[in-house]
Amino acid sequence: MPEPLAIRVRNALSLVENPATGRSIVSEGLIQGLTTDDDGQVRFTLELPGFVSAAAADALLNAAKAAAGAVDGVSSVSAVATAHSAKPSAPKQTGGHDNPFGIRKKPRIEEAADTLQGVRNIIAVASGKGGVGKSTVAANLAVALAARGLKTGFLDADIYGPSAPTLFGVADKAAVKDGRIMPVNAHGVTVMSIGMIVDPDQALAWRGPMVMGALGQLMRDVEWGALDVMIVDTPPGTGDAHLSLIQSKRLDGAVIVSTPQEMALADVRRGVALFRKTDVPIIGVIENMAWLESDTGERQYLFGEGGARRAAEKLDAPFLGAIPLYPALRAASDEGRPLAASNHPAADVFKELAEKLAGALSL
Ligand code: ADP
Repeated sequence: MPEPLAIRVRNALSLVENPATGRSIVSEGLIQGLTTDDDGQVRFTLELPGFVSAAAADALLNAAKAAAGAVDGVSSVSAVATAHSAKPSAPKQTGGHDNPFGIRKKPRIEEAADTLQGVRNIIAVASGKGGVGKSTVAANLAVALAARGLKTGFLDADIYGPSAPTLFGVADKAAVKDGRIMPVNAHGVTVMSIGMIVDPDQALAWRGPMVMGALGQLMRDVEWGALDVMIVDTPPGTGDAHLSLIQSKRLDGAVIVSTPQEMALADVRRGVALFRKTDVPIIGVIENMAWLESDTGERQYLFGEGGARRAAEKLDAPFLGAIPLYPALRAASDEGRPLAASNHPAADVFKELAEKLAGALSL
């Protein structure tokens, strides 16, 4: 009697090595939910730790599929790689607060595979108050991460004041295909914003539950695909959108943007407290509009000096770096040209910040 197919497939998979550890993917417990049926169909999930690049995950998944496919009696292999063992929250019913865009949903089983499982790291960019340059910094960080070769997404979660369409220069509304919202690729980044779905004025009337529903849809119903990192630009302050993100249990870290005023401490503290309370690691604080440099290289500290750095120190949070005031950054942002994708000195600043962020995520 030959051994059952499932056992032979498991044996074949146990010969596949995880290059990161040199150990068998079976003995490491990375193969989950292995099933076979009478027709020789094999299904399994490759469960990877969160901090694996999309390319490495693809390579390992392909190796596992090839090993299973080579087993005598196997007709087809269907396998997915997931970066997190925690399952995303279950999709809810169509309509009402949970579906303010009114987009028709696909059957659940397909939906489960379509959610953010392909996104390896989700980072919230937050600020205590508006106008500190949070969206500008978030967008340029995303562009700098993409320039580093990381598959990067940008989710504009600022439901009441979406700025991604302006910052990335995306004028068109998002297309919907088979009930899925198609993001747009701009400057190397996969971008989605509520401003690409509804008229921003429409969203202004939404209350808390609708904001949460809209955000849920931006995460669940958008065809994000495989991403190494997703940057989420959150609304200023701490509110429904932050809670919704935290409840999704998918945040891997938060970056807090602040200006250098003495008052920064209070702003930074609020953000740090929210994320710490909910066990979201603080990746670090960025000081924006830190100084203005004159033609002669002299620095003018228009908003005070080093307030955000001191706030980070006081709160025992890492300080990622300072971004000077660049009049060109404002101008380029208004025109939909992220300076991170140029040879302006600002690009080097964002590159360095992106490197620190990627380092913190082991990307
Ligand atoms: P927030 O998201 O915190 O409300 P924005 O990103 O919309 O802030 O930025 C507010 C304004 O400041 C925008 O006009 C933006 O172009 C400008 N800005 C942001 N950071 C800088 C900077 N480092 N230098 C110059 N202008 C900046």
